[in-house]
Amino acid sequence: MYVVIYLSVLMGKSKMSFHILTIFPFMFQGFLNESILKKAQGNGVIEIQIHDIRSFSENRHHKVDDTPYGGGAGMVMTPQPLFDAIAAIKKKVSEGEDGDLRLQTPVIYLSPRGKRLTQPLAERLAKKHTSFILLCGHYEGIDQRVIDALVDDEISIGDYVLSGGEVPAMVFVDALSRLTPGVLGNEESHQEESFSKKLGRKKEYPHYTKPADFRGMKVPDVLLTGHHAEIEKWRQGQLK
Ligand code: SAM
Repeated sequence: MYVVIYLSVLMGKSKMSFHILTIFPFMFQGFLNESILKKAQGNGVIEIQIHDIRSFSENRHHKVDDTPYGGGAGMVMTPQPLFDAIAAIKKKVSEGEDGDLRLQTPVIYLSPRGKRLTQPLAERLAKKHTSFILLCGHYEGIDQRVIDALVDDEISIGDYVLSGGEVPAMVFVDALSRLTPGVLGNEESHQEESFSKKLGRKKEYPHYTKPADFRGMKVPDVLLTGHHAEIEKWRQGQLK
C-alpha cells in the first residue's frame, strides 16, 4: 500500500479515475471484480465508478432514447440524461481538481467514428490525464448535440461496429490502467510489451515456461543458457 502511494508520488501522479456512463451497468460486474483491475482498485491505484444513465433521465419511465429526426432505422440516445449525467460527474470530480477541468477530465465518447485506440494514444492519454469520463453509446448512437457541446474526444477500438460502448470502455480502462504506476506488479512489464516504445512499437517475442521439454516440444536452447546478452539478441530477432 505505502509502496503504491510512494510510487504514485514519485511519478508525479495521483490515482487514475474512470467514470463510465452506461445504460447497462451490470455488464461491468465481472470486469471490475476480477484480476488486475480488482487488485488495483483495492490498492487505491485506480478508481472506477459506473453511472447509470437512466437514473439521470427526467422521463418518468427513465427513457433514454427516441426516434431520429429525418427518419431512419433505430433509436438515438436523447441529450437530457447525458447532459445532466456529465454535469453531475464533472461537478463531483472538480471538487478535487484545480485549473482547466476540460483538459483534466476529458469526456470520451466510445464511437466507431472516433480515432483509433493504439498503444501510443493510450500512453499519451495516461500521461496527460488522471481521470476520464467515458460515454457508452447504444442503438444508432447519441444525439450530436452531446458530442458538439460536451465530448472532448471520440475513440474507436477498431473498424467494426459493436452493439454498445461498454466493451470499448472496458478495453480503454484496461489499456490505460496497465500504464498507471502501481497497477502491474513489475513496473517494467508494460514497457516491454507488444507496441511499447522499448520494443520499437513491434509485437513482442515469444514466451516459454517450464517444462523445457513438453511432449517433445522444446524451449529454444538459448533461453536455457542463462546468457543474458544472447537471450536479449534472440528476443530482438523475434520481434515482428
Ligand atoms: N450508428 C453507429 C455507426 O454506424 O457508426 C453505430 C452505433 S453502435 C450500434 C452503438 C454504440 O456502440 C456506439 O454509439 C458506440 O458507443 C459503440 N461502438 C460500436 N462500435 C464501436 C467501436 N468500434 N469503437 C467504439 N465504440 C463503438
